[in-house]
Amino acid sequence: MFGKGILKGLGVTAKEAVSPRLTEKYPEEKPQLPTRWRGGMFALNQEACISCGLCAMACPNKVIRQKFEKDENNKKYCTEFVMERQYCLYCGLCVEACPKSCLHLTLEFETAVYNSADVPQDLLANNNMDKQLSTYGAKPPLPKPVPPRPAVSPAAEASTPDLPKGGEK
Ligand code: SF4
Ligand code: SF4
Repeated sequence: MFGKGILKGLGVTAKEAVSPRLTEKYPEEKPQLPTRWRGGMFALNQEACISCGLCAMACPNKVIRQKFEKDENNKKYCTEFVMERQYCLYCGLCVEACPKSCLHLTLEFETAVYNSADVPQDLLANNNMDKQLSTYGAKPPLPKPVPPRPAVSPAAEASTPDLPKGGEK
């Protein structure tokens, strides 16, 4: 039929004109990223980090550069914790490997820099914990330990009246 293609095209245009808007007015409006999004900066909870190095061992691209030292109590601490983000695959294995859930990805996505030397992220200088964190790899908090039951002294046990047994009045 003559003009069938035009009618079909107009139909698509009319349908899209009334359908919900999908584009976002970036950069005027910041996009709402999915909470499990990964692809930006890292964040480190320095207080929780035990300097075990498991995150670096889990990384397939050797992105994490760490150096450790020991204090007077023989406790390890980090003296260098740099993410060489230019090699990062954003696979998230480092986040998953952390036994203390102290390494995170953030929802920060505007990470472009003018100088390639600025791409690596020094997590000791800028831990990014003030940024919105991705929920990727987040583990549920550990259950609180149950406090031990206080010991009952023999004297207190003897003074406790016997409860009536089942069926007794
Ligand atoms: S996201 Fe993957 S590639 Fe990037 S630092 Fe972590 S383990 Fe390495
Ligand atoms: S795995 Fe976690 S606790 Fe261990 S060094 Fe990495 S960030 Fe720190």
